[in-house]
Amino acid sequence: MITELLDCSEKSLKKAADVIKSGEVAAFPTETVYGLGANAFDESAVRKIFAAKGRPADNPLIVHISDISMLKGLTSEVPELAYKLAEKFWPGPLTMIMPKSEKIPSVTSGGLSTVGIRFPSHPAARRLIELSGLPIAAPSANLSGSPSPTTARRVYEDMNGRIPVIIDGGESSVGVESTVLCFENGGVRILRPGGVTPEMLSEICRVTVDPAVTSELKPGAAAMSPGMKYKHYAPKASVEIVRGSAEKYAEYVLKSAKAGDWCLLFDTSEAVEGIPYICYGSDSREQAHRLFEALRELDVKGAKHVFARCPELKGVGLAVYNRILRAAGFNVTDLEVQA
Ligand code: AMP
Ligand code: MG
Repeated sequence: MITELLDCSEKSLKKAADVIKSGEVAAFPTETVYGLGANAFDESAVRKIFAAKGRPADNPLIVHISDISMLKGLTSEVPELAYKLAEKFWPGPLTMIMPKSEKIPSVTSGGLSTVGIRFPSHPAARRLIELSGLPIAAPSANLSGSPSPTTARRVYEDMNGRIPVIIDGGESSVGVESTVLCFENGGVRILRPGGVTPEMLSEICRVTVDPAVTSELKPGAAAMSPGMKYKHYAPKASVEIVRGSAEKYAEYVLKSAKAGDWCLLFDTSEAVEGIPYICYGSDSREQAHRLFEALRELDVKGAKHVFARCPELKGVGLAVYNRILRAAGFNVTDLEVQA
């Protein structure tokens, strides 16, 4: 299959909408990461997403809408709180899980009775949904297990020959996938952290952060958010998160590093002598924006092992930590505890 890389003009978006209407898959930009979209109602189209990514069938897809009025046809029940959160955070990087309507096939929801719904803010994503006149089921546009793509070029690297069309809408601004939440006891539970932070949600309702966000599930335990159970977002190098001050980090890396090892830092001032590095930002928003591209760059450089400075667990930093923890396969060295 030939993969066409298109700009995000109205003409290109119409072409991509036609692709989606005809039961095929198109990649498109969103403010979180690039998505791989198909008609959420069409079982055979949705199967093509799973095939292109090599995604496990029990990992549900998020359904994207371009207007709150589309919620009704996708869900069997919308809690009052969902409308309140939608008013505040939609369009934007928030996915809400609700009981699904019968019109959503079980392939889309990974066999679950619920469906995750998001109204993205990226103008090209919104226009694509409007033009296709359909809710678009879309996971991140990477091969399963790899870091999510935040540029069309990275989508092309993973999807060339696997899908007919990629829309280029520039760099994704947020850089990590949406916040995923479900409703419980009048409040919400965060199953996956993202650009809408626990602090932002707490201004509206009671918020619980699911323990699976920051720790590994016990073998055999059921994941409330199926994507959290897979090793994910990983570059080819092994990744080790190192928690501690810049001084302790440098001391530890100097002692442990071998040839081919790299550092993943917040700032150039933290460089460890003799060890190559990539910086992924000094504040949490910047780290989220840069993280996946930094992980892909480490592959290009041929890094063998990566010592990643541990982000703060506050605000969007929680999302950064959640992703990097999975990229590291839960390998964390805590220098504060060891001291
Ligand atoms: P991706 O689109 O690749 O960012 O992955 C979507 C993720 O959202 C999945 O891996 C799940 O963890 C989560 N998700 C989507 N739909 C549901 C649902 N119905 N219930 C629980 N989690 C969901
Ligand atoms: Mg993904």
